[in-house]
Amino acid sequence: MEKTYDIIVGGGGIIGTAMSLAFAEHGLSVALVDETAFTVKDNSGFDGRAYALSSSTVKMLSVLGVWKELCKTAQPIFEIKVSDGIAGRGASPFFMHFHHHDMGSGPIGYMVEDRFLKSILLKKVLSKRSISKFFGSKILTQNVNANYISVGLKNKTTIISKLLVGADGRSSSIAQKSGIKRNTVDYEQTGIVCAVSHEKDHLGEAHQFFMPTGPLAILPLQKGVSSIVWTKKNSGVNHLESLSDEEFLEELAIRFGKFRGPIALKGKRYFFPLSLSIAKNLVSQRLALIGDAAHAVHPLAGQGLNLGMRDVASLAEIVTLARRCGEDYGMNEVLLRYSNWRDFDRLTLYSFTHMINKVFSNNNSILRTLRGLGMGAINNIPTIKKGLMKEASGQGKDLPILMTGRKI
Ligand SMILES: Cc1cc2nc3c(=O)[nH]c(=O)nc-3n(C[C@H](O)[C@H](O)[C@H](O)COP(=O)(O)OP(=O)(O)OC[C@H]3O[C@@H](n4cnc5c(N)ncnc54)[C@H](O)[C@@H]3O)c2cc1C
Repeated sequence: MEKTYDIIVGGGGIIGTAMSLAFAEHGLSVALVDETAFTVKDNSGFDGRAYALSSSTVKMLSVLGVWKELCKTAQPIFEIKVSDGIAGRGASPFFMHFHHHDMGSGPIGYMVEDRFLKSILLKKVLSKRSISKFFGSKILTQNVNANYISVGLKNKTTIISKLLVGADGRSSSIAQKSGIKRNTVDYEQTGIVCAVSHEKDHLGEAHQFFMPTGPLAILPLQKGVSSIVWTKKNSGVNHLESLSDEEFLEELAIRFGKFRGPIALKGKRYFFPLSLSIAKNLVSQRLALIGDAAHAVHPLAGQGLNLGMRDVASLAEIVTLARRCGEDYGMNEVLLRYSNWRDFDRLTLYSFTHMINKVFSNNNSILRTLRGLGMGAINNIPTIKKGLMKEASGQGKDLPILMTGRKI
């Protein structure tokens, strides 16, 4: 049995579902394929993961009809403090301080929990008749010719389209099948993710604390809870995994410090091996990659998901405009517009996170002094500070239309 759609999206994670909604919102029929069988998860139980959404991502989620419900679960970020230090000795006296007042109106961004973001996106997808769901259906084959791409699913269905969008995560088999190679770097670090409650309110403050073994991010969530992303060299991780909750909390508390009073662990701890994985090309014949399938970066800047959301907004714009002009939106000429638009952003972000991780994750005393002085200097130069804040909140130049809060 063969069916034809305007677009096939392979991978129904956060980025693939957002992509499907963006196309559906602009009148395209979409086949959304994911190897996992989906049931809308109920909202019980915190699973540790949370994301810092930039204000431009939030604007796009509003257009996609998702933010109205999601914002009830979101925690605004009003301040970000970045400092350098050694566990037990406290932060260096020099630090960067970003306040939402420096940017104009509104918060710097919002923290949302993975479980809410995923389930609200999924609910929206389920409500759209123009999105055909192929859940529990792995993509097994891809055959491309001059006019279309045909995709074979595990359940023996074949679906056809002018364009396949690869949103199948950092080990993208869709990219592999099209011959796209990747650059990968194993950071030999693990991201330990958990949530803690604390005596004093976080007041919407986010902290990034650079330690020689890797950064510790303390990010505000609703109800006085903070999400922790603690990056640690792999050599010390087995030990942390083997500790009881009480022992683990003691180790964390040394790094966390006492500024919020006593802390308590909320729920489980999760361990993610960290690596960089960048597709060498964003497009191939009748294929475009988005999200982690295109570029999985270090989580230290909390920008991986936002980068993927910018892919979604850019590809939706290029395909929609090409289609309106009667162009074949799956042809190379159109796909190259997407690739050229995205290349600068993705290369900048991956070089930035890669470099920051290298410079900050070590204990060289000269580097520590320079880092502290550098942060102190940036903190006192308003133009640089404002520029950094604009980038972090996704308000840089050349924003796709969806990210300004308007339909294409
Ligand atoms: C510790 C940690 C903390 C992070 N914190 C932040 C943060 O604060 N802010 C931020 O912006 N980002 C953050 N990130 C990054 C963010 O988690 C990722 O960028 C994002 O989840 C990627 O989403 P995705 O949809 O592209 O990929 P995935 O979530 O990997 O989804 C891929 C989907 O494809 C499906 N699939 C795979 N293969 C196939 C196939 N052959 N056929 C069909 N379906 C398939 C899978 O089932 C899955 O549903 C963090 C990452 C880590 C590791």
